[in-house]
Amino acid sequence: MGDGPSSPDVPARPDVSPNPDVIIVGGGIIGLSTAWQLLQEGTEAVVLDPAPGTGASHAAAGMLAPIHEAYWGESHILRLNLAASQAWPAFADKIGVDAVDYRRHGMLMAAYDADDKALLDNLGDLHEQEGLPVERLRSRECRAREPLLAPGVRGGVYSPLDHQVNPRRVVAELLSRVPAIAASATEVSRNRVVADDGRVMTCQQVVVAAGAWTGRLLGVPIRPIKGQILRLSGPEGLLRLPVRGVVRGSSVYAVPRSDGEIVVGATQEEQGFDTRVTAGGVYELLRDVLALLPGLSEIDLVETWAGLRPGAPDNAPIIGTGEDGIVYATGHYRNGILTAPVTAAAVAAVVQGHEPPVDLAPFSPNRFDAKPGDHTPDPEHLSEVPA
Ligand SMILES: Cc1cc2nc3c(=O)[nH]c(=O)nc-3n(C[C@H](O)[C@H](O)[C@H](O)COP(=O)(O)OP(=O)(O)OC[C@H]3O[C@@H](n4cnc5c(N)ncnc54)[C@H](O)[C@@H]3O)c2cc1C
Repeated sequence: MGDGPSSPDVPARPDVSPNPDVIIVGGGIIGLSTAWQLLQEGTEAVVLDPAPGTGASHAAAGMLAPIHEAYWGESHILRLNLAASQAWPAFADKIGVDAVDYRRHGMLMAAYDADDKALLDNLGDLHEQEGLPVERLRSRECRAREPLLAPGVRGGVYSPLDHQVNPRRVVAELLSRVPAIAASATEVSRNRVVADDGRVMTCQQVVVAAGAWTGRLLGVPIRPIKGQILRLSGPEGLLRLPVRGVVRGSSVYAVPRSDGEIVVGATQEEQGFDTRVTAGGVYELLRDVLALLPGLSEIDLVETWAGLRPGAPDNAPIIGTGEDGIVYATGHYRNGILTAPVTAAAVAAVVQGHEPPVDLAPFSPNRFDAKPGDHTPDPEHLSEVPA
């Protein structure tokens, strides 16, 4: 937690109100952004989390990439991601662009071999159909933009709209602005939360933003999707651009921060609540990133990590009021850092009874067979929170 606000218009680390209007269960980037949005709009919000900021938000690379995260059949997610991308400049301005290392250099997606190029061409058709602003590049043009790329790359796609941020810094900044209680929720209803330390809290509205753990707490079908990720450290500016690659059919990315850190990710594994870093996971990431960017082989490997993405069966987030009266803000899967500002604004609108800035119908908590409220929380599992 920081020692105070970085921006003069935000009060210093507010005290926890004894009677908050809103209790937010979960202090990852989604819960914290939502609390901050509510506070700015005059609604007293408090976050409840035994270890805020240690979930998926701590693992994330911080790509804000609506274009390179666009997939066939997910137009509604693309629209949400584009709205989030537009919301980021103002969000970053308010927190402090330099404080969170918000960078707008665009992003390059490169194909390693001919089959990888075919995959990229297929996505190119999607970009065209959706009218997304991208530049298709030949091998030489890719290397002109990013000289560290291997000479053999077959081609690529540059997206000027895809940006990046340091999620750990965003979380730290938000934590300094939002009141938080260090406890885990064991029972939740529309206006009441029971915590593992025995306290019972009431409010006007409970919001659940418990990431991958939401499915354990309530009856929405959210599962953890494990991602292993590495942090390298080298000279500042060694890698100019965030680069994503398809390497012999596998996806890999390298995201440079302004201080010389390069984040390399990420595996996608269905392993339940397992956050072990494995030899195989690290091997695959290094194998693919060094094939794409051989010049990274000489710099330091400073961290290995794994986090749990909260995923719904249809890959779309869950935002809105459930049949149980609880407001949900979860399931942000691969794009929770990107979507945080727009989810926060949408949830604040739902709580305050205003029109949300985006159409929330495709993201309703009530779109699944297993409805919110069908589920009895398992106290044994809840005691394992967080990972
Ligand atoms: C390796 C990896 C790379 C990623 N890269 C990107 C990227 O480049 N760009 C992008 O946009 N997204 C990325 N993501 C996805 C992104 O990290 C997530 O979508 C986002 O962090 C989800 O935020 P959240 O607040 O919902 O969840 P989390 O950050 O997981 O926070 C959930 C919080 O809920 C708390 N909690 C759980 N249960 C309870 C309870 N019962 N009571 C109280 N608190 C509870 C936990 O302690 C935790 O702090 C990545 C994810 C991973 C794993």
